[in-house]
Amino acid sequence: MQYEDFYRQSIEQPEQFWAEQARLIHWDTPPQQILDQSNLPFRRWFVGGTTNLCYNAVDRHLADRAEQLALVAISSETDVTREFTYRELYWEVNAFAAVLRSLGVGKGDRVVIYLPNMAEAVFAMLACARIGAIHSVVFGGFAAHNLALRIDDAQPKLLIAADAGMRGGKVIPYKPLVDAALNEASAPPPQVLIVDRGLDPQMTRVAGRDFDYAELRRAHEGVEVPVIWLESNEPSYLLYTSGTTGKPKGVQRDVGGYAVAMALSIRTVFDIAPGQAMFSTSDVGWAVGHSYNVYGPLIGGATSLLYEGMPTRPDPGIWWQLCERYGVRTMFSSPTAIRVLKKQDESWLKKYDLSNLKWLFLAGEPLDEPTAQWITDALGVPVIDNYWQTETGWPAITLMPGLELKAVKFGSPGLPAPGYKMKVIDENTGKEVPAGTKGVLVLQPPLPPGCLSTIWRDDDRYVHSYFSHFRELLYSSLDWAIRDEDGYTFILGRTDDVINVAGHRLGTREIEEAVASHPAVAEAAVVGVRDELKGQVPIVFATLKQDAGVGAGAMALAMQQRVVEQLGGVAKPSRVYVVNALPKTRSGKLLRRSLQALAEQRDPGDLSTLDDPGALDDIRRALELGP
Ligand code: ATP
Ligand code: MG
Repeated sequence: MQYEDFYRQSIEQPEQFWAEQARLIHWDTPPQQILDQSNLPFRRWFVGGTTNLCYNAVDRHLADRAEQLALVAISSETDVTREFTYRELYWEVNAFAAVLRSLGVGKGDRVVIYLPNMAEAVFAMLACARIGAIHSVVFGGFAAHNLALRIDDAQPKLLIAADAGMRGGKVIPYKPLVDAALNEASAPPPQVLIVDRGLDPQMTRVAGRDFDYAELRRAHEGVEVPVIWLESNEPSYLLYTSGTTGKPKGVQRDVGGYAVAMALSIRTVFDIAPGQAMFSTSDVGWAVGHSYNVYGPLIGGATSLLYEGMPTRPDPGIWWQLCERYGVRTMFSSPTAIRVLKKQDESWLKKYDLSNLKWLFLAGEPLDEPTAQWITDALGVPVIDNYWQTETGWPAITLMPGLELKAVKFGSPGLPAPGYKMKVIDENTGKEVPAGTKGVLVLQPPLPPGCLSTIWRDDDRYVHSYFSHFRELLYSSLDWAIRDEDGYTFILGRTDDVINVAGHRLGTREIEEAVASHPAVAEAAVVGVRDELKGQVPIVFATLKQDAGVGAGAMALAMQQRVVEQLGGVAKPSRVYVVNALPKTRSGKLLRRSLQALAEQRDPGDLSTLDDPGALDDIRRALELGP
């Protein structure tokens, strides 16, 4: 089918369109009403229908593909690969569900999952879904404070944690962080279930509170746990946004709408049919991990690869080696990860047989043209930028090669996905801007299936955070965009990333791209800092490629020159700092607000999701030394 017809139907006849898509999943009771929008901005999809995410991801495939691989969990940290067929997955999930029940977890109870990218994280999520418990996966790399915040928000009955994770060959004990988090949290203390990988021999247990998963699993192996059917709009899970703009928001997802969005997107966006292999390099702790390591591929009857480790260990060819071994068709990663590979020798991408690989999807932050071009040339497959948010749960702007491949335009994630009624508006007048003009990206409610239902236990914050920016009732997370004549949307960054130089409004992204077009630059961050004369001026922080071979001073001049050539004198960065690392969130997003704050000698703000504190020290030093 043609993309245009598909999209148009989703907007003009949403009930018919989504009634049709609802057939992609199994319902125990079919929906009585496709869409209830009597209480906007809240909306309910597939009202009265009952279904279950675990049933659709596991049980449903036993008839046709029990012996097919469902999950491959590869760890280049522990050097262990574990493969599970759908039948094996079924038994693992049932055992896990039985353990949950034995600990008193039931429908509506929250379960915080604090595990690295390992198979048990998937089992635990699906086991929760099976019995109607609400999971809240906390990225394993977060520290005690982040964990405590999420425990207090979710008030879980159970916390599932590993003894330890590993990063770059180093063991990172989790259990002390769990103990510290439970100390800090004010919620009633949950029970703790430890998945002991044997990595931390020093691990201590609290009697009566801490349980051992392996021991309980042995007692429940072979038990079958009946699926609990849930009404489509009951909560399935909680997941927090990245905290790039401030305190993370607890996104609440439903059951039926999400299942349908997963079934639809895995086919039409990611072009994955049952039996094919998908490799998302995300961590299960992120939105991409939830949707395209766990629910999407499994609901779609595919083989999902889960990877624990770095893209460069044991060597920078590891991901492509896995693509060859499992015949991966669709790969999904982030621009950050690709920029890491870009610093390495390109020959690593040419070593393996990638004849099955059809697409590389990248999401999470702007994909700059030089990186897009580099990876496209190196892999020889289309690279598909796709734009979404933790809130949306699946791509909002993308190309849909499973339906029809439209031309890839570098710098743009493409066209709106089905159900996303999208506009680019003027932030002052609220009116749609003409093609080619910058504006704020907004969605007209109702949000399509799969998107958040609300913020957990905070309907007010849901309305306030997303729907209160304009006179009209419109959803916006305040990203800045531009639409071209063909309807392709270009994301320019966040509205608060706009730099206003003497009345000229410049996107940080435009300047970053100009800087990064210099072949020796690995990555650049641009922020606007206060200036008495011009209001604001852009300043640049950049990291260089390993073999840049040019001095920092000469490089700074060269970067300024690139900007002037491409964007004109107004955009010329007033200062350029060459640094070793840029501050990022744990999900790989540039923390521009902190860079800007440091450059303006302000407090860097909420740093709870900062990846490497060393990067900020590096910035402080650079600022002290001067450009
Ligand atoms: P918070 O909402 O807590 O401030 P966050 O917005 O970074 O954090 P996420 O939900 O992880 O949390 O990220 C969504 C945001 O990431 C989008 O609003 C957008 O700014 C950016 N983004 C995602 N994909 C793309 C893309 N393909 N191109 C450009 N920007 C993207
Ligand atoms: Mg956001």
